[in-house]
Amino acid sequence: MSGQDHRPAAGQGLCLKGMTSEELQEFARRQGWPDYRGRQLAEWVYRHAAQDFADMTPLPAAVRRRLQETAALGTSQVQALQQAPDGTAKFLLALPGGDAVETVFIPHSYGGSVCVSSQVGCAMQCAFCASGIGGLVRSLSAGEMVEEVLAVRRWLKGATDSELPRPVGTGGLRVTHVVVMGSGEPLQNYDNLLRFLRIAEAPWGLGIGFRRITVSTAGWVPGIRRLAEEDLPITLAVSLHAPDDGLRNQLMPINRRFPLDQLIPACRQYAQSSGRRLTFEYVLIRDVNDRPEHARQLVQLIRGILGHVNLIPLNPVAEHPWQRPDPGAVERFARIVAGAGIPVTVRREMGTSIDAACGQLRRRVLQAAPETAMMAREPRTGGLWVAPQGLGEARLDYADRLPHGHREIPADQ
Ligand code: SAH
Repeated sequence: MSGQDHRPAAGQGLCLKGMTSEELQEFARRQGWPDYRGRQLAEWVYRHAAQDFADMTPLPAAVRRRLQETAALGTSQVQALQQAPDGTAKFLLALPGGDAVETVFIPHSYGGSVCVSSQVGCAMQCAFCASGIGGLVRSLSAGEMVEEVLAVRRWLKGATDSELPRPVGTGGLRVTHVVVMGSGEPLQNYDNLLRFLRIAEAPWGLGIGFRRITVSTAGWVPGIRRLAEEDLPITLAVSLHAPDDGLRNQLMPINRRFPLDQLIPACRQYAQSSGRRLTFEYVLIRDVNDRPEHARQLVQLIRGILGHVNLIPLNPVAEHPWQRPDPGAVERFARIVAGAGIPVTVRREMGTSIDAACGQLRRRVLQAAPETAMMAREPRTGGLWVAPQGLGEARLDYADRLPHGHREIPADQ
């Protein structure tokens, strides 16, 4: 088993979340327990999303006691929660290790996606993104990524803290999809990402098929090449955001390291070897990359690669000057791409708004109260959010921001 992934946090035992079913069986054997105890543990850790060993009631009391002494579950605390009236919910989760990560639940007619963060902060420094403003803090373990999904599942089934607001919408809210599109560059955290994907897929784990999992990268070329070799039927999304090196260098510093003449062939190879359609993400920024000539250049760039373009109108971030494009510019852009025979979708706009661009909630909370561990949770009316103490002054504005939604609407052909 990978030592890094199960490093016990200060004052805690070995973290079981992030271990495979086989590893849990091995753990059980080392305790002198039968193998089925390990399988039972997998069931309680993953399927039942147990918060505490005390919840594992079918296990004998002596076993639970031993677990309490030697092991940990890595359960997070919901530190802040914002929910838009359409049901999109953004969580700030405090991890037992002391950091906080953002996780988003996006309801769909057929279920719901959890948008998982792969790192605390981010090293990519994309010019329009809030996640990287404070730099990279650390990568998340596989168990911490699993916990993001489990925290949402607990909330959906009403098993979390009773102070939290209940999910908006009635019934049928389930986690059916995972998108690794939260804070961080997942391919820079490759081994933990892969372990997470395997646990997410496993029937003894989260039980979310690979075909319902998307991983989004800023264009970390060695990771794309490595992932191609794993041959997992996940969807790879590549954040392009600009059709030429000059502009992409300005928006995404990673382009200086892996320019388009390396990235595009890696995408082509990924699509060819996996036989799966890539998603090219393109954040539209007013008067920066949203003009018809950019759309035409984009078409030239990706022509012939099995893929589709997902246009994302910029979600403005207070710290950056960039603005959302005009709806007319989005429409024009989409028509040019679609007219060239490339499927295109526009990320939906959802009702009212929450601090949904990557990293915004975490930033706001950290600014309002640096001693994050001390935060109180306080339900409020109106915006349906739970705020940490001290957020009063930094009230969220409900200006028309685009949440981090993933349901897509086809552009007119
Ligand atoms: N590092 C990975 C995954 C995290 S970002 C990546 O770059 O793909 C997930 C997506 O959100 C990326 O396409 C990113 O460029 C986009 N994004 C970041 N900030 C945004 C903003 N303010 N508005 C719209 N999309 C944004």
